[in-house]
Amino acid sequence: MTGSFYPPQRTLMGPGPSDVPPRVLGALARPTIGHLDPQFVALMDETKALLQYAFQTDNALTLPVSAPGSAGMEACFVNLVSPGDTVIVCRNGVFGGRMQENVERCGATAILVDDDWGSAVSVDKVAAAFAAHPEASALAFVHAETSTGAYSDVAALCALAREHGALSIVDTVTSLGGIELRVDDWGADAVYAGTQKCLSCVPGIAPVTFSPAAVERIQAREHKVQSWFLDMQLVMGYWGGESKRSYHHTAPVNALYALHESLLMLKEETLEAAWARHAFNHRALVAGLEAMGLSLAVDAECRLPQLNAVRIPEGVDDAAVRAALLRDFDLEIGAGLGALAGKTWRIGLMGHSSRRRNVMTCLAALESVLSTQGAAINTGVALAAAEAVFAG
Ligand SMILES: *Cc1c(COP(=O)(O)O)cnc(C)c1O
Repeated sequence: MTGSFYPPQRTLMGPGPSDVPPRVLGALARPTIGHLDPQFVALMDETKALLQYAFQTDNALTLPVSAPGSAGMEACFVNLVSPGDTVIVCRNGVFGGRMQENVERCGATAILVDDDWGSAVSVDKVAAAFAAHPEASALAFVHAETSTGAYSDVAALCALAREHGALSIVDTVTSLGGIELRVDDWGADAVYAGTQKCLSCVPGIAPVTFSPAAVERIQAREHKVQSWFLDMQLVMGYWGGESKRSYHHTAPVNALYALHESLLMLKEETLEAAWARHAFNHRALVAGLEAMGLSLAVDAECRLPQLNAVRIPEGVDDAAVRAALLRDFDLEIGAGLGALAGKTWRIGLMGHSSRRRNVMTCLAALESVLSTQGAAINTGVALAAAEAVFAG
């Protein structure tokens, strides 16, 4: 016998998905209409305008790809990279490695610029890579590395690419809505994001935006894009047409209601206030963790407020702590990835998860579980330290 599925009510403080607010879940449950219904087409226009606001861009080619963040990544690479191209790829965590994989699958050569996990991408190393490879037609890097908790300098890296006649491809999956991002001012050419991180929408959609220079590159292609589904020239017929929209694929209608609602909430709050909220809650969490005697794995100058990599104290059982948090507190935090597996926890304060309630819940639950395990932490001080930040 199978029955309906009723998921538990979790508090989501991992690397995504983040807590989805009731207002967004409510939008998801509204009646399904056709993907070419004039009312739905009006919603698409509004969604595009809201995405332009979130990305801080006037780019006409701004739309939500009907698939998760990874498909947004793939959409940028398959449309801008052709066989035989050279692309400089920055690797300072898991997601830079995936960019390399995308470049190679496009039949292009990836020139790798490696930085330590937990550090920002080195602008000097990228400048050296351009000097050694003047033929490079694109530069790809991650703004907010969710695998490590570090951010990189988008404006400086995009300026370097432009100086060398290359386009920039930027992963903003975890940065959009959480930290400052200005696509037009910073000159980013192809930018992809996700819905389940700082937008606090349901997973499965990838907002993307392409600059006029990127669109020119797409239109000048000599090789057909290897993916039919992600070929922007075809997708534009559905998302781009000002008057007439033609069928390309069936849009995830209800998921797009949810995206529209989450973007509307961001617009109501304003981007600047959302960035400030993420920074503020992060400060409170860090004050609590440090009072407990825990330390952060990323230096303060490139530390993300929405993804906190915390060093696992000596002798503590990583998996047992995360299992106890989930079982006893319905609290999800993330494990370390790749080089940081077993060495850090990743505590997300993304979107709707970035609020006082979550900061205090997490500190209290972590203290309880670590004390039970006999870890050498300071007890009875973390909540007060966080409260002191909230009190201003
Ligand atoms: C989560 C994430 C992705 C992948 O998004 P999915 O929706 O899981 O496909 C890509 N890049 C970064 C930086 C991410 O954090």
